Amino acid sequence: MNDLAPFWKNYINGAWAEGGAGRLTVQDPATGQALAEHAAADAADVDRAVQAARRVHLSGALSGMRPLERGRMVQAMGTYLLTHKAEIARTLTLEQGKPLWESEIEIEGAALYFEYYGNQASTVEGRSVPLGDGYLDWTEHDPYGVSAQIIPWNYPLEMTARSLSAALATGNACVIKPPELTPLTHAWIAKAAEAAGFPAGAVNIVCGYGHTAGAALAGHPDVNQIVFTGSVSTGVAIATAAARNVVPCVLELGGKSAAIVHEDADLSAFETDMRWGIFFNAGQVCSAMSRIIVHEARATELLERAEALAKSLSVGPGIDRTDFGANMGAMVSDPQRDRAEAMVSHAETQGARIITGGRRLNRDGAFLEPTVLSQITPDMDIAQQEVFGPVLSVLTFEDDAEAIALANGTDYGLVAGVFTADLNRATKAARQLRAGQIFVNEWYAGGVETPFGGYGKSGYGREKGREALWNYVQTKNIAIKQR
Ligand code: NAD
Repeated sequence: MNDLAPFWKNYINGAWAEGGAGRLTVQDPATGQALAEHAAADAADVDRAVQAARRVHLSGALSGMRPLERGRMVQAMGTYLLTHKAEIARTLTLEQGKPLWESEIEIEGAALYFEYYGNQASTVEGRSVPLGDGYLDWTEHDPYGVSAQIIPWNYPLEMTARSLSAALATGNACVIKPPELTPLTHAWIAKAAEAAGFPAGAVNIVCGYGHTAGAALAGHPDVNQIVFTGSVSTGVAIATAAARNVVPCVLELGGKSAAIVHEDADLSAFETDMRWGIFFNAGQVCSAMSRIIVHEARATELLERAEALAKSLSVGPGIDRTDFGANMGAMVSDPQRDRAEAMVSHAETQGARIITGGRRLNRDGAFLEPTVLSQITPDMDIAQQEVFGPVLSVLTFEDDAEAIALANGTDYGLVAGVFTADLNRATKAARQLRAGQIFVNEWYAGGVETPFGGYGKSGYGREKGREALWNYVQTKNIAIKQR
């Protein structure tokens, strides 16, 4: 039963706000029914949020604070989310479709960002530069000012936590544009900022449609830095808007990431990698293992294991799936499910073989069967285009050079994996793969501490790790002539 509040507001300058563009309806993808309404921001709302953030920045309330104290406040936001984990998880599952236990993992992941970047706040140090007698010279790292963050629907809370935590830790004031499909959990981000003691205007949340509210934010002349996570086409629009205002942006876009599975790989262990790599969050993960490139000597065994794994997953409403296990929820919306299903049918017409899955469930809700495709060749659309669903494409190779060429043979370059018992082979491949993050013998090896971001059309800039801190600061050099 849906017991959520019927109407959710934006959060501007420390106050809950109606939307100038009226309301948008948030649906439960597991039923197709309306879940709640959310305020829809217009350009004037966005402007008020940006001006509130700008005032906080110019006041020095954040940038002048001792970083250690700012870091403690950032950490307190994570603690707040964990304290409210049960209610946030329920809301996230109802609006996004993922199983309840996956929502809990997302909230824990979001809290980790606040913990990690809260800890890093006082580590953003400059350096002294030797200029010889008569001079003193050092660098400092200033926050940009107003950081605009435009967020996708697949991990709404975690993606916001990723950029917001680092931006606040470095002393920026923020305006967040949540995804229109899954905006509800952002209410807890606002409450967390309030509970942590951030001044009004330090964190603003303006949900609205991308082409209106999102575009108004990306093109706002008082925004000083932009972080965008989402599709390539929107990324191009954001980068164009940023260029017009001469502000930097970080683009975290899509992927068509491949795992190379060598003849000597441990296929039993690899089942876990497939489980998480392509079926977690129903495959709606930018760094999903959407392709496997397997040595032809192991292809039959790998496909048998992939098929058994896919068939073992029970698919249904996330709200009933409370416990970690062999289950999967709805995709985020019917159109996303339809798109993925159509891509599978199209792949079949191009010669792919459906080993299992490929169809919607015979019930209401955006459910797609866990899908495994074989006989994929690199010229097929399914081998090149991101599905963003629970669809695994399996290709085969004969020698190492072919495997690398296939893995590198898309426009993307987000992550890649190598599975082998031979570490020499793995390290050689790691150097040859064109992707921002390489996993050896464990898909998703890494964490908030490790830099993440794309090569090629997967975007530029790095989130996570210490590298991300430099997205949010600009370097100032101060030189003194001693007289
Ligand atoms: P999307 O690009 O449609 O939307 C992302 C956000 O941009 C939403 O908040 C949307 O409202 C906003 N937006 C849309 N048009 C806009 C415009 N013209 N100006 C400003 N904002 C606009 O993407 P999506 O469908 O929400 O997310 C799926 C995509 O995101 C996939 O391609 C996926 O790979 C990618 N993604 C990448 C990462 C990563 O870290 N690399 C993480 C999650 C998702």
